[in-house]
Amino acid sequence: MSRASDYVTEFMRKQVAEAAGFQCEYCLIHEKDAYFGCEIDHVVSIKHGGSSVLQNLAYSCMICNLYKGSDLGSITETGKLIRFYNPRIDNWNEHFLIQGNAIIPVNEIGKVTARIFRFNEIERRMERDALQEIGLYPKRN
Ligand SMILES: [Zn+2]
Repeated sequence: MSRASDYVTEFMRKQVAEAAGFQCEYCLIHEKDAYFGCEIDHVVSIKHGGSSVLQNLAYSCMICNLYKGSDLGSITETGKLIRFYNPRIDNWNEHFLIQGNAIIPVNEIGKVTARIFRFNEIERRMERDALQEIGLYPKRN
């Protein structure tokens, strides 16, 4: 059930998008280059008690947000529960690096995030390739 306080105002959307530089805070694609655009993500989903405050909102492409869903993290190969990368408290460069057209996770938080968000699906890598070629996606971080 949704509460009135779950509502993200147009002003908040704008603030989040601007703070993110109009790019997905997870895979770094710019909203103009994202086929389905970007939207507001609740880092901690409302289902899990997150609310619509700036500290819990991130700018996400539709694809990252779709794969993330209401999840908060995942299980590693060794059975450990690890949270996802949180753009409000984490530094992207401490969890991932860009290598060619791939986003390489450098720790467990990066690994579960990259796997569940499917950062390196072939279609996404090809898209990054094309964007890198015309200077619209970073070649390294
Ligand atoms: Zn994304």
